[in-house]
Amino acid sequence: MTGPTTAKHTVLIIEDEPDVIDLLRLNLAKAGFRVLEARDGLSGLAVAREKRPDAIILDLMLPEMRGEEVCRQLKSRGSTAAIPVIMLTAKAQASERVAGLELGADDYVAKPFSPREMVLRIQGILRRLETSASDRLAVGPFEIDRGSFEVRLDGAKLDLTVIEFKLLVMLMEKRGRVLSREDLLRDVWGYHRLSNSRTVDTHMRRLRTKLGDHAARLETVRSHGYRFRAGQED
Ligand code: CA
Repeated sequence: MTGPTTAKHTVLIIEDEPDVIDLLRLNLAKAGFRVLEARDGLSGLAVAREKRPDAIILDLMLPEMRGEEVCRQLKSRGSTAAIPVIMLTAKAQASERVAGLELGADDYVAKPFSPREMVLRIQGILRRLETSASDRLAVGPFEIDRGSFEVRLDGAKLDLTVIEFKLLVMLMEKRGRVLSREDLLRDVWGYHRLSNSRTVDTHMRRLRTKLGDHAARLETVRSHGYRFRAGQED
């Protein structure tokens, strides 16, 4: 979470349709939120990076940069990765929803939507984040904060993507056990059907690079999957 919890929560609306912005602004303000606005994808990204809102409502159909790309960029940067994103779109198809969630969106609301429901969703997401803020896990030199998506290694903060974070946390939670690529795809990406397991290898490789001297903690177990090696002190 950004800012002290006693302050008002800030919600950034990234949307180009004035009617939708008005509707959201009105209802969010009534519910006690501070509201920021951006009318296109690029400026939305800039405002998110500069102001670090507590939540973002992101429309998919935007000028300058599409909502999907905005979401991808938000979720791939350490400074904005932990901000919950609620995607807003006219497309109500399940495939759009799945695509949005795969990009790391935290929730999804299809237009036309009830502003009251939108407010409830945001409150729900923020409440969940706050309850998990104290959810810490420490293993050897690793310190994880599930609430803020922060990982410290030997005290230094690592800049991980959300996927890398989830991979690391899952392997650490089950340290000493081998997790198959299918396990990881299902639990980290949320795929219920078998997808390309090379995706896992690519992300593991990047994650290892970021672990530097501790990369060997993440073991490849041939033809089985991956394991976080538990040290004697863990
Ligand atoms: Ca739009």
